[in-house]
Amino acid sequence: MTIQLTQDQKDFQEAIRAFVDKEIIPVARDMEHSGEYPTAIVEHMKEMGLFGMTIPEEFGGLGVDMTTFSIVFEELSRGWMGVAGILGSHSMACFVIAKHGTPEQKAKYLPDLATGARRSGLGLTEPGAGTDLQGISTTATLDGDHYIVRGSKTWITNARHADPLPVLVKTDPKADPRHKGMSVLLIDAGTPGFTIGKDIPKMGYKGPESCEVILDEVRVPVEQLLGGVEGRGMQQVLSALETGRLNIAARSVGIAARAYEEAVNYAKSRMAFGKSISEFQAIQLKIADMATDLQAARLLTYWAASEADQGKRVDLQTAQAKVFASEVAIQNSLRAMQVHGGYGYSTEYEIERLYRDAPLMSIGEGTNDIMRMVIAKQIFAD
Ligand SMILES: Cc1cc2nc3c(=O)[nH]c(=O)nc-3n(C[C@H](O)[C@H](O)[C@H](O)COP(=O)(O)OP(=O)(O)OC[C@H]3O[C@@H](n4cnc5c(N)ncnc54)[C@H](O)[C@@H]3O)c2cc1C
Repeated sequence: MTIQLTQDQKDFQEAIRAFVDKEIIPVARDMEHSGEYPTAIVEHMKEMGLFGMTIPEEFGGLGVDMTTFSIVFEELSRGWMGVAGILGSHSMACFVIAKHGTPEQKAKYLPDLATGARRSGLGLTEPGAGTDLQGISTTATLDGDHYIVRGSKTWITNARHADPLPVLVKTDPKADPRHKGMSVLLIDAGTPGFTIGKDIPKMGYKGPESCEVILDEVRVPVEQLLGGVEGRGMQQVLSALETGRLNIAARSVGIAARAYEEAVNYAKSRMAFGKSISEFQAIQLKIADMATDLQAARLLTYWAASEADQGKRVDLQTAQAKVFASEVAIQNSLRAMQVHGGYGYSTEYEIERLYRDAPLMSIGEGTNDIMRMVIAKQIFAD
């Protein structure tokens, strides 16, 4: 098995890296600390077509392969993981609409989502249910040619910018098994009763907002039922999460890579006891572990992406990549902090942001324990 990027993928990687070095790295620390929304960066990402990565070319998207998709998330996260989050759930929403939407839904939404004129996110989690999505309590009751939606969502990233927001609901709360009563509704911004509540304060992942969403008797036309058939919501969402895990694995590689780069550069420049700290074996051991784990995380992620590109089901592969890479991101950010000594703890350096951003990678798109259960299930099923 070889993992070799094509010339097109290498060119794309180079373009994204240049963009990140020029437009993101110089401003990330200040913007993250001040809480300023990265509007100019978003505009540039629109120009680069990045909002259309998971949208087929016929609808104006880039329709990139999963390896290229991973490259983008890795490179952006090397600069600032929060910026990658602006594209993350948007790309998943585009993926579900492109894969499961009716022809009318695709025509209505995909061209604008591809340019970023419209943006999106994914409304799954509720105050009482995250991992156990089949335990959600938001309901959609048919009333003539509309559904009446009642409930609430939480932690919804990009909610303030989402139009439409795909929202997971129960169209048949009594269904057994429960997933057969679940559907996705595409709710347009501004629909009466659909309100974005407070921004949830976060330790990291600044940039994109993560919000409460209140659904108070929202009247949603039946044409907004994703795919036009009730009971497919859970399946639709799970197919998106497969792609989502790849973006989380790739974001983790980006964080781990930046931590490694910063640690190497700092170790070369910092003097102690009359020599560069890079000459101390204790520092060298940390750097060696960082480099080795980073390489392993990257290979696992690109392998999972290449398996997806071959059209395979990749729950096992993406779960393995996500678990491993996210834990490397956490470890590398801590090791980089140790290499930096006191400066690693300072908000004037990049390391503390990497350290605050990394843990989310072990939570989002399915916690790592759940991913381990997905992996084990496949092993024993085989
Ligand atoms: C910054 C941020 C952004 C987010 N963005 C979004 C978003 O855009 N859209 C969205 O829908 N959601 C979003 N989420 C929510 C995220 O997907 C959930 O937090 C995640 O799925 C975990 O759900 P939970 O928080 O309810 O934890 P819980 O499900 O309550 O889990 C708590 C703990 O119990 C463990 N656990 C649960 N069930 C089992 C089991 N069966 N076996 C063993 N262990 C178990 C979990 O692994 C975890 O350790 C976001 C979260 C954060 C923090």
